[in-house]
Amino acid sequence: MSTLTNEFLDRLRELGEVHLDEPLARHVTFGVGGPADAFFVALTEDQLRGGFALARSNDVPVFIFGSGSNVLVGDGGVRGLVIENRTDAIVGPAQNGAGLKVRVASGVSFAALARRMANAGYAGVEWACGIPGSLGGAVVTNAGAYEHSLAPALVGARLADGKGVIAELTADELDLTYRNSAFSRGQITDRIVLSVDLRVQDGDVRELKAKVKELDRQRKAAQPPGRNCGSVFKNPADHPSWWYVEQVGLRGHRIGQAQFSERHANFILNLGGAKATDIMSLIRLAQERTREQFGVELDTEVMMVGEFA
Ligand SMILES: Cc1cc2nc3c(=O)[nH]c(=O)nc-3n(C[C@H](O)[C@H](O)[C@H](O)COP(=O)(O)OP(=O)(O)OC[C@H]3O[C@@H](n4cnc5c(N)ncnc54)[C@H](O)[C@@H]3O)c2cc1C
Repeated sequence: MSTLTNEFLDRLRELGEVHLDEPLARHVTFGVGGPADAFFVALTEDQLRGGFALARSNDVPVFIFGSGSNVLVGDGGVRGLVIENRTDAIVGPAQNGAGLKVRVASGVSFAALARRMANAGYAGVEWACGIPGSLGGAVVTNAGAYEHSLAPALVGARLADGKGVIAELTADELDLTYRNSAFSRGQITDRIVLSVDLRVQDGDVRELKAKVKELDRQRKAAQPPGRNCGSVFKNPADHPSWWYVEQVGLRGHRIGQAQFSERHANFILNLGGAKATDIMSLIRLAQERTREQFGVELDTEVMMVGEFA
C-alpha cells in the first residue's frame, strides 16, 4: 500500500464508493493483475473529473481505465488510486454545422455505441460493433477494425486536467494514427478524456443491422473465446503480427496458464489463473525470436500497467 492518507481517502469517499486493495484481475478482460491500493468507480463525469483532480492535488499516483480491454496489469498491482470509468451519457446525434454529431461519455462502450447508432439508422461507426473497450480507451489507442478506425469519425474530445479544468481538443490536436494518439505518444500527459464528439451520417437501418450481423459472424469465426486483450502486437508494415508469431513457432505455445491462441496467433489467452509474468514471458519470447529471425520489432498494442515481478 502506498502512502494514502486518511484525509485523502475520506475526501474520495465523499465523491463515491472506495475499495482498498481491490484485485484488478476482476476488472480487466485478461483477468490477471494484482491489487490497486485504492479503487474508485466513476459513474458520472463529476466523479471522474473530481477523483482525478483529488489524486493529482494530493500527489497520489492515479491510473484511469475504461473497460480494461487493452491493459496488462502487473502481478504486484498498481500503487495509488485506480479509477474505473463507467460514465454512460450519450447526447444526440443532433445537427451540428455541416453534419450530425453525437457526444458520448468516455466510459461508454464503443461496441454498444456502434450498435445503438446502427439500430437507430446512423452510419459511421457500425464497424466498431465488436470492439469491447470504452470511447476513452478508443481515443487513446485509435481503436479500429476491418480497415476502419476511430480517427475519421472523431470531431474532438473534452479533456480534464489535474486541476479539474476542462478543455476541448480537436481531432487534429488529438492526432490519431495507427493504434496511437497524442496520448499514447506521451504528447498529452496528465489529462483524461471526459467525452468524445463523433460524426455520424443518416443511413439505412436494415443495411446497418445486416452489416453488424455480418461483422459479428466474422469476428466470432476469427477470434478465440476466453480471457484475453484482443491483439497483443501492432501489425508491422509488411506482415500481420500473427504471421510472425506463427513463423517463429509460437502459435499455441504455452507458459504457465498463458497461451498464444491456436486460432489467432496474435491473441494470448489466460487459460485460468495465468500470471501477468507468464503473459509477459510470452510477449518477450515472441519479440526476441522475431527480432533474431526477421530483424523486425513487434511493438505491443496492449499497455503494461503497474508492478511486474
Ligand atoms: C476480445 C477483444 C477484441 C478486441 N478487438 C479490438 C479491435 O478489433 N480493434 C481494436 O482497436 N482494439 C481491439 N481490442 C482492444 C481494446 O478493446 C481497444 O484497445 C479499446 O479501445 C481499449 O479501450 P478500454 O476502455 O478497454 O481501454 P483500457 O484498456 O481501459 O485503457 C487503455 C489505455 O487507455 C487509457 N484510457 C482509458 N480511458 C481513458 C480516459 N477516459 N482518459 C484517458 N486515458 C484513458 C488507459 O489509461 C490505458 O492507458 C480488443 C480487445 C479484446 C479483449
